[in-house]
Amino acid sequence: MSRQYRIAVVEDENNILEVISYNLRREGYRVLEARDGVEGIDMIRREKPDLALLDIMLPGMDGIQICQNLKTDVSLRHIPVLMVTARSEESDVVLGLGIGADDYIVKPFSPRELVARVKASLRRLQQASEGDRSVHNAGGLRIDIERHRFYVGDEQVELTPSEFQIMSLLMRSPGRVFTREEILALTGNSGGIVIERNIDTHVKSIRKKLGDFRDLVETVRGVGYRFRED
Ligand code: CA
Repeated sequence: MSRQYRIAVVEDENNILEVISYNLRREGYRVLEARDGVEGIDMIRREKPDLALLDIMLPGMDGIQICQNLKTDVSLRHIPVLMVTARSEESDVVLGLGIGADDYIVKPFSPRELVARVKASLRRLQQASEGDRSVHNAGGLRIDIERHRFYVGDEQVELTPSEFQIMSLLMRSPGRVFTREEILALTGNSGGIVIERNIDTHVKSIRKKLGDFRDLVETVRGVGYRFRED
């Protein structure tokens, strides 16, 4: 059985809260409720739900402030936020999206629309986390990020930690060009230990290990590197 997602709903209007909770529970989600902004942010901090549905106009602290608090907190910023808004508050929604809300839904909404938006947000979240973990196959190479293994054809090849990070970055997005600067930032090597010039050295070493597959890591002159798209 797939795991049960937990959804925090912060809404001060009882009838709307009831409609939202009823429909989400019917879909098999666990619903955590709060009717006040301060109570809402406390609940989210404590429970770390999979998704937060925030009304904008709330007593205590409004939905925009809650969203801002979540998105500036490293331990909470991954939680997708869906803003629930009245039509007259659409300028607030723009503000909400600017500070990291994932989507919004305008009242009055149909239960079907609500459920569809929630599902879409959770799907994006799941895809993002699978992107971090899973196995990637491309052009005869295979990288297993979770087990930290790399294969050329059927043969396992040892990569240094920096080489492994570079290959997992490139292989996750075949065809996308990464600048040296991006590679540094995205592999977490921006702390000054690895300098941009060193990226070229790592790539040279990776290519040597790839043998006949070396052309899969392409140099884009004046820009950076990319993994060849089939
Ligand atoms: Ca309200």
